[in-house]
Amino acid sequence: MSLNGQVALVTGASRGIGRAVALKLAKEGAAVVVTATTVESAQRTADEIVASGGKALALKVDVSSVDEVESLFKEAVAAFGKVDILVNNAGITKDGLLLRMKESDWDAVIDVNLKGAFNCIREAAKLMSKARYGRIVNVSSVVGEMGNPGQANYCASKAGMIGLTKSVAKELARRNVTVNAVTPGFIETDMTAELGEKTKEALMEQIPMGRLGSGDDIANAVYFLVAESGSYITGHVLSVNGGMYM
Ligand code: NAD
Repeated sequence: MSLNGQVALVTGASRGIGRAVALKLAKEGAAVVVTATTVESAQRTADEIVASGGKALALKVDVSSVDEVESLFKEAVAAFGKVDILVNNAGITKDGLLLRMKESDWDAVIDVNLKGAFNCIREAAKLMSKARYGRIVNVSSVVGEMGNPGQANYCASKAGMIGLTKSVAKELARRNVTVNAVTPGFIETDMTAELGEKTKEALMEQIPMGRLGSGDDIANAVYFLVAESGSYITGHVLSVNGGMYM
């Protein structure tokens, strides 16, 4: 188990991609701080980890709140002593065409997806710079690279995460802290479950590999970046999209 003795914090880990990432990092030996918007939903993932012999702590956080994120990191350090790995996975959509997009829908998506990642990175960077070790992975999206009608707010937030990743990677490299992004394609989770069959079929035509991805596909990529295998990789954007965008 290559992450033995390490502590990982995964945001939005109650379900979908975040849950798969939390389970994978725990399976590889990390103690995992599982966060979600309610403690009950985070607890479900934490219970799964503990049931398979791992260590986990469930905490509630709204990543868009600076105060809540500060408390989150304090509680994580109080429980496990440090944070070696941060996975910024929490994300939301509020889709709509630009001309009809409400200011509140723009703000909410930028606040959770982009400012949330900034809030967590800033807290993690304090600990990781001091420790001279850290691994940060930001879960962006294929549509942050290619754009998507009806998702101007979401695509802007996900493209912003890529700029954030590269800038912070340059700032923290000398401290042995790597910062990378993964850009999932269309992954089978609650976020994509709402899509109608016709939309899914149309999407499938854009995916050369002919299938939606799974949470495990993303978890494996995150693991590659945070484990020994990723130790000389920083500022990279790793596409995990079945060939949808190259
Ligand atoms: P999901 O909706 O199933 O899960 C989202 C998670 O984020 C939940 O645990 C939720 O509690 C948490 N969350 C939401 N708002 C939060 C907040 N304010 N503070 C803290 N946590 C919050 O989504 P998913 O499909 O598993 O997506 C996970 C990440 O991957 C998101 O960032 C999403 O944008 C990204 N992504 C998903 C896909 C896809 O096809 N599913 C594709 C590309 C990128």
